[in-house]
Amino acid sequence: MTHNYQYFDIHAHVHGPEFEDDIAGVLSRAKEAGIGIITVGTDEESSARAVSLAEAHGGVWATVGVHPTDTKTENINKELLTGLAKRDRTISIGECGLDYFRMKGDEAAEKARQKKIFEEQIEIALETNLPLMIHCREAHEDVLSILQSKKREHGGKLRGDIHFFSGGIDTAKRYLELDFSLSFTGVITFTHDYDEAVAYVPLDMIMSETDCPYVAPVPYRGKRNEPSYVVEVVKRIAEIRQKPLPLVAETLVENARRTFFDANLTA
Ligand SMILES: [Zn+2]
Repeated sequence: MTHNYQYFDIHAHVHGPEFEDDIAGVLSRAKEAGIGIITVGTDEESSARAVSLAEAHGGVWATVGVHPTDTKTENINKELLTGLAKRDRTISIGECGLDYFRMKGDEAAEKARQKKIFEEQIEIALETNLPLMIHCREAHEDVLSILQSKKREHGGKLRGDIHFFSGGIDTAKRYLELDFSLSFTGVITFTHDYDEAVAYVPLDMIMSETDCPYVAPVPYRGKRNEPSYVVEVVKRIAEIRQKPLPLVAETLVENARRTFFDANLTA
């Protein structure tokens, strides 16, 4: 491997307006701590911004996709997203998935809309041979059944990560059976709700993320989150699993490399 990353924040939103004023400082703090960053698009416009940011800075890569709660999107602009997906610094499709938390209006219609744009993005991932960055909130049964049926059809080509994993070990097991990895945020530094899942997932199937600017870990709670804080997430994973931090940190970087980068991970 031709890199010297010590940590990876596999799910950040550093191209967002919250970072506009001090992006140089945010990225240099991450760089100093040896942190690679994946900045995640949430609609077509934000995906384009994510790609531009990744193309302008070393150590940053982009995903392109439409978040399930982006209710303005009835249909994916396939041509636009596929074009963005083929750019050099784009390494994943998403965040896409299903989110049944606090749905407004006609629930059945909203679920159908979400499923449709999720499946459209899975098609783009398969066509461009990229892994998926999946968002799932209170919708594990439906996400699992979509992934299971796509897996039967496409096998190993269908792959990716379940970001901000929010289930228990039974749910974790079912994603692992589909070869999807699970990633955890700073939430694990201030609740024990996910300790069991963090301890259960095999070390080679777990990754770290901040989901910044949201959910800053202890000791930064209440502040704007940023990629350099991912160190706190990795420390907590090591603590829960009772393994040395350097071993856990190194394995998590290797997991990110294997999941999102074909071969070489360079600056
Ligand atoms: Zn996110």
